[in-house]
Amino acid sequence: MEKDLQDDRENKDPKMKDALFISNRNPGFSNNASIEFYAGGEMSGAMFHSCHAVVVDAADLGFAEHVLRTIRRDPHPLVYLKPAYLYSEAGVQDDFLLELSDGPAPRFGEGGTFQGPDRERMGAIARKIELFMQRGNIAETVFIKMVRYLASRGKSLEPLMRIRSKSGFTFPFLECQFPDREHLMFETLDWLETAGLLSGSQVDAIHMCGACDCAFLNFRETCPQCSSVKFSSEDLVHHFVCGYVGPESDFKGERGPSCPKCRKGLRHIGVDHDRPSVVRKCRNCDHDFQEPVLEVVCLQCRKISRPENLSPRAIKKYQLTALGEATSLSGLDLAQGTGPAGLIGLIGYESFASLINQENERKKRYKSGQNSTAAFLTIGNKGEMSLEMGRKASRISQELAKIIKWSLRSTDVISYRSEFGFMFLMVETDPTRSDTVLGRIKTEIEQLLQENIQVRPEIAIRCWPIDGTFSLEQTLSELTGP
Ligand SMILES: [Zn+2]
Ligand SMILES: [Zn+2]
Ligand SMILES: [Zn+2]
Repeated sequence: MEKDLQDDRENKDPKMKDALFISNRNPGFSNNASIEFYAGGEMSGAMFHSCHAVVVDAADLGFAEHVLRTIRRDPHPLVYLKPAYLYSEAGVQDDFLLELSDGPAPRFGEGGTFQGPDRERMGAIARKIELFMQRGNIAETVFIKMVRYLASRGKSLEPLMRIRSKSGFTFPFLECQFPDREHLMFETLDWLETAGLLSGSQVDAIHMCGACDCAFLNFRETCPQCSSVKFSSEDLVHHFVCGYVGPESDFKGERGPSCPKCRKGLRHIGVDHDRPSVVRKCRNCDHDFQEPVLEVVCLQCRKISRPENLSPRAIKKYQLTALGEATSLSGLDLAQGTGPAGLIGLIGYESFASLINQENERKKRYKSGQNSTAAFLTIGNKGEMSLEMGRKASRISQELAKIIKWSLRSTDVISYRSEFGFMFLMVETDPTRSDTVLGRIKTEIEQLLQENIQVRPEIAIRCWPIDGTFSLEQTLSELTGP
């Protein structure tokens, strides 16, 4: 599909269609003024620009899935964020399609137009899309698409259990971005979480094949000697009366079970006898053993491994963070500028400033509760040091960023600008409490730099409470000073 920003103007056109109905059959109700029928064939991006929503005929689930995947994979916000409803007389049961769409379209087909909550929801999504469009040239990477999708829907990202996914779980919107490369879906989520755009909370745990990441595994008990799965199991019986211990099959008698040694009949478990364990006999190699060996066979690549060699993965649901929300508008400026700003977890100055301002506004309105802290780490003799660092500079910068990232909590926000150094927003941490963390960061950075270069760094850390009167601009001009 082509990217056609011109069509954005049509978004405000009052003659825009309510819905584009996409079907590969005759649905049996007539066309009307606010519905436009589209009966299959190659879809073009432009066709989605002149409607508020799309209604996909889900009588044929394969067809509906193809249409929805095409929409969500498109690079243009007017297409991939388009409200898309499913139409089916019988109702749609398919979890994957329901998640990939904006749900069923119950009021559709009666009057043809959307009413009530559906219309409000469509309007809310349309306003978000418009905001995104006003921001101009933000690269629609998969990261941006993901945060924009969640921001436009105001919903959390839930994993969906699905047998068609190799891991047994999928996130439909993300899966469409990476057909046949499921591992990238998880890498994207890990990245978004590390960067602080999403916050995850674990809902399940899976184990995957160490060779191919497939979670469809067969756990089986085998003979420790020959690995055969063919063995018999029997309870071991201990006769207290005479001390005899042997497999249950030894205790046969004409009038019920009796002891082969003392000939007395067995009465009650715990009174005259006990079953201390299980004995197994391999039918392949005749080996007698007590504990079988647990083996795991991958149903996809057939690799056999031990349970401890599987790769575990936490399955999480995700919530868009305030930073994620800000990023949906400002874009990712992680890789801009010089120094360590391109590293994971650091955000651009604009997003940082807007978060600080939000926090300050919040504090102004709600006086109670913890203050947050804005902290600044500057290196006084940077010029002298960068001469010394030379070719080691990029590695040292990465180490620096790591020290900082590891010392803070995932809710803290870090930014970097070569004029000011590192800037931190420590959420709900009063400056008095942030001292320890910042002191440790300072010591570790000094150590790192002294080990790598011969110049002693002049590091200064200063903190301000974000108490409703904080101004980032003023603070920065104070820091750089005349
Ligand atoms: Zn055996
Ligand atoms: Zn006995
Ligand atoms: Zn495998």
